[in-house]
Amino acid sequence: MDFTATHATRPKVAITEVGTRDGFQSEPEFIATQTKVQVIDALVAAGVRAFEATSFVSPRAVPQMADAHDVIAQVARRDGVNLAALVPNARGAERAIGANVDEMVCFVSASETHNRKNLNAPIEPSLRHVADIVAVANGHPVTVRGAVACAFGCPFEGEVPVDAVLRVVDGYAKLGITRLTLGDTTGMATPPTVARAVAAIRTRFPQLEITLHFHNTRGAGLANVMVGLDLGIRRYESSIAGLGGCPFAPGATGNICTEDLVYLLEESGFDTGIDLEALIAVARQVETIIGRPLPGQVMKAGSRLRRYGTDSVRSATG
Ligand code: ZN
Repeated sequence: MDFTATHATRPKVAITEVGTRDGFQSEPEFIATQTKVQVIDALVAAGVRAFEATSFVSPRAVPQMADAHDVIAQVARRDGVNLAALVPNARGAERAIGANVDEMVCFVSASETHNRKNLNAPIEPSLRHVADIVAVANGHPVTVRGAVACAFGCPFEGEVPVDAVLRVVDGYAKLGITRLTLGDTTGMATPPTVARAVAAIRTRFPQLEITLHFHNTRGAGLANVMVGLDLGIRRYESSIAGLGGCPFAPGATGNICTEDLVYLLEESGFDTGIDLEALIAVARQVETIIGRPLPGQVMKAGSRLRRYGTDSVRSATG
C-alpha cells in the first residue's frame, strides 16, 4: 500500500457490525432485548450502516438469540442501514422475512468436520438447505449472503485447501448468491492464506462481492485486514469492543474489534463514515453490559492524538 499518495477523496470502506450476533450469542446470561436494541441504535448514531444484528436459529439451541424477531422489530429503522440476520434453514428464513430483515446470512463451512459439528450435516446437504433459504427469499425484498466458515483453517482438520473454499463458493454462486463473506472462524487466517483465497475466488468468480470476517485469536486480525485492503477488498466485519469468541477456542479473543478497525482504517486514509469517539463510547457501554474487560484496545488507550495533562501521569519521583 502506498501511504505517500494523496487522495482527493478517501476510498470508502464498509464495516458490518456483528457484535450483537457473533458476540452476544456466546454470553451465558440473557441480555435484555432492549439492551441489544440500544447498542444497535447507538452504533447507528455513531455512523455504522450495516449489522449482522441477530440470528434466527432455534431458540432451544441458542437461547440468547430467542428474541431475534423483537430485536429486528424494535431497532429504529433508517434509510441506508442494512439489518442482516443469520439463518440456518428455511424455517429461520421464514422467521427472518417475517421480521423484515434486509439481508439473510447463510453459512456453510469449508471444512467437512467443522460443518458436521456446527450444522450436524455434511457440506452437500447444507448447501441444499441454502437452496431452500434462497427459495424462501424469492419474491421478497431481501438479499441472501453466503458465508464460508473456516475459510482459512479448521480447528479439527488444520489447513483448509483453497479448493474446499471454492467448492462452497461454487455452491453459492450456482444459487445466484453474489455477496460472499469469508469467515476466519477460529482466528487461523494469515496474510498468505488470505491472499491465496481471495485471488482464487476472484479468478473463478469475478462477479462475487467479497467481505472478510477475521478473528483476532492469534493477534493477526488487523494484519489480515491490511492484506485485504492491499488486495482491494473494501468490506469487513467486526465486533464492538472485540466481543465474541469461539466455543472451540476457549479463552481466545473473538472478532476483530470495530473501534480498533475504524481507528486503523481512518489513520490509513480510508473513509469509514464512522465517528471513532462515539464508537469508543458505545464500546465502553458494551463492556459495562457484559461486566468484564473486553479485548478492544483503542477503547482503553483513546485515539492516537489524545493528549494528557502532565499532572495526570505520576513522575518517577512521586
Ligand atoms: Zn466471528
